[in-house]
Amino acid sequence: MGLIVQKFGGTSVGNVERILNVADRVQSEKQQGNDVVVVVSAMGKTTDQLVNLAKEISSQPSKREMDMLLTTGEQTTIALLAMALAEKGLDAVSFTGWQAGIMTEPVHGNARIKKINPEAINKQLANGKVVIVAGFQGVTEDGQITTLGRGGSDTTAVALAAALKADKCDIYTDVTGVYTTDPRYVKSARKLADISYDEMLELANLGAGVLHPRAVEFAKNYHIRLEVRSSMEKMEGTVIEEEAKMEQNLVVRGVAFEDEITRVTLLGLADSLTNLSTIFTTLAQHHINVDIIIQSKTDSDTTNLSFSIKTADLLETLDVLESNKELLKYEKIEAENQLSKVSIVGSGMISNPGVAARMFEVLASNQIDIKMVSTSEIKVSAVVKEKDMLKAVQSLHDAFELGAAQQ
Ligand code: ASP
Ligand code: MG
Repeated sequence: MGLIVQKFGGTSVGNVERILNVADRVQSEKQQGNDVVVVVSAMGKTTDQLVNLAKEISSQPSKREMDMLLTTGEQTTIALLAMALAEKGLDAVSFTGWQAGIMTEPVHGNARIKKINPEAINKQLANGKVVIVAGFQGVTEDGQITTLGRGGSDTTAVALAAALKADKCDIYTDVTGVYTTDPRYVKSARKLADISYDEMLELANLGAGVLHPRAVEFAKNYHIRLEVRSSMEKMEGTVIEEEAKMEQNLVVRGVAFEDEITRVTLLGLADSLTNLSTIFTTLAQHHINVDIIIQSKTDSDTTNLSFSIKTADLLETLDVLESNKELLKYEKIEAENQLSKVSIVGSGMISNPGVAARMFEVLASNQIDIKMVSTSEIKVSAVVKEKDMLKAVQSLHDAFELGAAQQ
């Protein structure tokens, strides 16, 4: 007998029938003699709908009130699931984030969990109850309700698993696991039996939407064994743990991609020690997230600087750069949009030289122009034209033998 945390995402609780299906899943875990804590998301697209409702009223609603609004989504689901379990004769109790003792920093919209007081949950578990907790929400020390950022229910589940010392944390979702790449775009994409925390962290940060990056971070720090699996189909999912078994010694384990990227270039920057820090401090003050940065000296005494941003941030970025032209001392701005980032990820890269070289070779032989490159120990990313994105993904997936056909 152990303690299991189960998390069900929005699609998995999208309607009454699916909530009943979740109740079945909880019941079967309970029947195996386990204590169960269930974390749920808002039903279906509820969170998006609530965001849109707010937009109809205000273009800049207060962040405190946004949190108040969005947390109602999860609150609906916990109550309905508790009722569904009661109908099955199971003793269940629902808790909002604050009732569950989830304490966060005092930030609205994207708060981090600071600590969890598990007493209330432990007391109910000791009474034999299934405890259902609203995902994505917490409370500050002075009683303000906060949210953890979009997709944050995963983080609630993993943080609870850590605080309650659960034996396992199962993330039930609308896909059957973590794939070598997005199976909606690449037919030969294959489900991975397991993957390491570090690889998953890279994939999650690179836009593979299957898990919230902070949930993976938590799991890694607290050694929580995670499994991503389907809430509809009864089959094994993908296990995320310290050391994934190096199946077939694959050096690359996944290909991630993200579109809507823009490269901004500042030409003719005066050569000064503090230039870069001034530019990026100014952008950071406006909450503009910069990804890849490339600096190059020109023949004359100036520097050119390119960096990538999300295209959604382009107008604001140009605004900030133009209105600070005096301070930033550049001659000209250029921006190229309709770009994408394609990345290969795998722990095996650490000990295998030549992986980046192979990637560039594959892209070149497919006539794909590389605009920017960045690397970490276990990933290589290339920025390419958006029209080349899927071709790049498919050819890398083939070249690194990730596909089902290669099995
Ligand atoms: N309902 C929230 C969202 O859509 C949190 C979550 O589902 O993880 O982002
Ligand atoms: Mg999610």
